[in-house]
Amino acid sequence: MSEADDRVRFVLARYRYRIYPDAAQCQALARVFGCARVVFNDAVRLREEARERGEKISDGEVQRQVITLAKATPGREWLGEVASVALVQACQDARRAYKNWFDSMAGRRKGRKTGHPRFRRRHGRQSVRLTRNGFTLHGSRLYVAKVGDIKVKWSRDLPSVPSSVTVIREADGRYYASFVVERDAQPLPPCDRETGVDVGLVSLAVTSDGLVIPNPRFLRKAERRLKKAQRALSRKQKGSRNRAKARQQVAVLYRKVRETRLDHAHKTALMLVRDNQAVYAEDLAVSGLARTRLAKSVHDAGWSMLVRLIEEKAQFHGRYFARIGRFEPTSQVCSECGARDGPKPLSVRTWTCKECGTVHDRDVNAARNVLALGQRERVNASGGSVRPGHGPAAAVERGTRRSAA
Ligand SMILES: [Zn+2]
Repeated sequence: MSEADDRVRFVLARYRYRIYPDAAQCQALARVFGCARVVFNDAVRLREEARERGEKISDGEVQRQVITLAKATPGREWLGEVASVALVQACQDARRAYKNWFDSMAGRRKGRKTGHPRFRRRHGRQSVRLTRNGFTLHGSRLYVAKVGDIKVKWSRDLPSVPSSVTVIREADGRYYASFVVERDAQPLPPCDRETGVDVGLVSLAVTSDGLVIPNPRFLRKAERRLKKAQRALSRKQKGSRNRAKARQQVAVLYRKVRETRLDHAHKTALMLVRDNQAVYAEDLAVSGLARTRLAKSVHDAGWSMLVRLIEEKAQFHGRYFARIGRFEPTSQVCSECGARDGPKPLSVRTWTCKECGTVHDRDVNAARNVLALGQRERVNASGGSVRPGHGPAAAVERGTRRSAA
């Protein structure tokens, strides 16, 4: 998001691989997940209690209480059975989650508002993060401290030595290793197009150029199957074998939806970043209030995934990217003359501006407003002057020309 995009030499990237722990390793991993979860939750709780008492608690003290002292406590002594790096990491994750939330509340943190750190749960996705001293790669295997050498399916090469790994057990029972690595940035030759992207009423996204990016048909199908399976699960009796089976089925369908969506989002993000020097996207977290009924979790999940990938790829390819936190409903303002037209029910797909008579497609008009807002915020943020190559004049002119057209 910085103006120094084209000076970025390295970017951090995640590389994810499927791993195949054997039975004993699965057990050992379950122990690590469990211990990391307990430490994380204890650390959040401890910070919460300190805050309620109006006391400050140091990071070292939190760690001492939830790890070192806890190990000597009956009921927590099993914390000693797993690698302490995993526990220290869980403690740091809790610290970061807590701090993000706290800063966000105090208005110190830019971007989306962060929720209160959620306690980790026993069910569903489990994960544990390990830094350099908690894992090594030797041969084709991933060695995890106190777990052993785990078989990895290397679907592509790692570009460099990873600085950390997250070992994940997804809800459907599959295991993955997600490595954080440094990659050389690959700036693309500059181009002079810029675009605004907004979430569509029925499509995944719509751009200010009028490009409609649909949700692929097979994704809609998979989503329908997922919803059906979720309904079936909710009808099953708690603790029954049928419920366990139904939960597994939901997890499998969920993975398929996620994988399909991810693949589609990768392609879309690459296209937008390749064809535009700057991409501005609406920040749903800010505007969420405005879209109550539309805010179906499935729809929003696809959108936030797309925006995250655009951001990553923009950084990697030396493009500019910014999230636009709109405070005016973009679908109610005419992108041609700026007149405010009032709220419209979701069924209204096109409307005519009462002031200037322009006929608008609801989504394209919103995307044009995102573009204009993004360009304005960018010029303002740079004190009215942007470095050569990112010409503010060009950006402003483009907006003016479009308005005059
Ligand atoms: Zn108008």
